[in-house]
Amino acid sequence: MTDETWGHVRGELMKSIGKNNFSAWIEPITFHSFEDGIVRFLVPAKFIGSWVSQNFGDVILRHLISAGVGADRIEFTVDPAAKAKPAPHSADTAPDAIPSPEPVNVGGNNGNGNGLLNASLNQNFTFDAFVVGKPNELAHAAARRVAEGGPVSFNPLFLYGGVGLGKTHLMHAIAWELQTRQPQLRILYVSAEQFMYRFVRALREKDTIGFKEMFRSVDVLMVDDVQFIAGKNSTQEEFFHTFNALIEMGKQIVISGDRAPVDMENLDNRIASRLACGLVVDLHPTDYELRLGILQTKAETYRERYPKLQIAPGVLEFVAHRISTNVRVLEGALTRLFAFADLIGSEITMDLTQECLSDILRATDRKVTMDEIVKKVCEHYHIRQADLLGPSRARNNARPRQMAMYLCKKLTTRSLPEIGLKLGRRDHTTILHGVRKIEELMAVDSQIAEDAELLRRMLEA
Ligand code: ADP
Ligand code: MG
Repeated sequence: MTDETWGHVRGELMKSIGKNNFSAWIEPITFHSFEDGIVRFLVPAKFIGSWVSQNFGDVILRHLISAGVGADRIEFTVDPAAKAKPAPHSADTAPDAIPSPEPVNVGGNNGNGNGLLNASLNQNFTFDAFVVGKPNELAHAAARRVAEGGPVSFNPLFLYGGVGLGKTHLMHAIAWELQTRQPQLRILYVSAEQFMYRFVRALREKDTIGFKEMFRSVDVLMVDDVQFIAGKNSTQEEFFHTFNALIEMGKQIVISGDRAPVDMENLDNRIASRLACGLVVDLHPTDYELRLGILQTKAETYRERYPKLQIAPGVLEFVAHRISTNVRVLEGALTRLFAFADLIGSEITMDLTQECLSDILRATDRKVTMDEIVKKVCEHYHIRQADLLGPSRARNNARPRQMAMYLCKKLTTRSLPEIGLKLGRRDHTTILHGVRKIEELMAVDSQIAEDAELLRRMLEA
């Protein structure tokens, strides 16, 4: 058996277990060896091995066998190198995973029965399920407005932002809402990729007229991830015409992209300027509050599914602190936590969390460095770094120093001695004292609490 065979089997697995399961569970494992009928895989954490073996062991074996591998069983070993490697779940490389408890996709048409509009909308992507916070409130408000279906007010609505921040979720929510309010509307949701494929197919089948008619006959057109067609010239051209035609007819258009129209290289200038004529709103990276809100909301839905599982206090806060800005990764983490706790029949404790999410946590580790903390704290309190790091015991140096200790402890994975070394070669007990001091003060002194909050936000932004 070779890496190539595994590559092929992976492709088959993706088809049979679905994209979400695939990214959550198969993506993290790597083929190691094949000997004596045993296929060995490396996993980043023990838990992933037991989960995959329990839930997907048979499918994997079956696919291996049909690929001609004379395998009797499969085994998982924790990858000793996993500690050094960035985890597959890091925010930037996160696959297109939507590991929700039951990822449901309603295929078929949009309920308007004409068979043309075979958008597949995710049932979980509703406004009710969308948690609103500072980073997404504008985008949410704009989406809501469009979903009311009143006179077309901003056209097109262009939503943009990084991966996993809720663009697709909002678009589906608009579609669901519009469809409920006005069932007669013809709503078409497509990814830009699908748009292209359909166009190419129409060209091949010499049916561009049918294609044009279809796209021009809708009341609401939503095109997701428009960056995909930037640079694909004939598709862009067609898109531009479709777009203009619909706008002229007063039809609503909603588009998403990974960046602002002006920043999209290779996007036809005419499209960019038309996009800019509508309302352009961005989804900002999540902040701590939003992440916590999302985790709490999702945890509620999991509790219905796993009524026996308890979450120890502080776990959600910890996850919200430590996991990057991408909501998809955050959801994946929670899925894993519940699955793991369910598997071993334990409460979701802090220890369990650390173990179960070790690869994700490692990937987002050191997002904030101690240097950044020192710098920001000094700026915030208007003191010099030499004073913060030096021996001065004056209150206006000592307090910021303790704040730095506190932030280093909370926002990095550094140990107390490491923090001590960084902050002017101080003893770890001094650091511990400083951290506790700030925690005590935060409870009674709102100024300190605010400072801590503000600094944390700036550092995590
Ligand atoms: P994008 O299209 O921007 O890459 P998605 O809309 O696919 O991101 O969102 C990724 C995942 O995160 C989805 O499962 C979505 O439900 C979830 N999500 C994102 N933002 C929120 C939010 N504000 N509240 C609840 N879930 C969210
Ligand atoms: Mg998307």
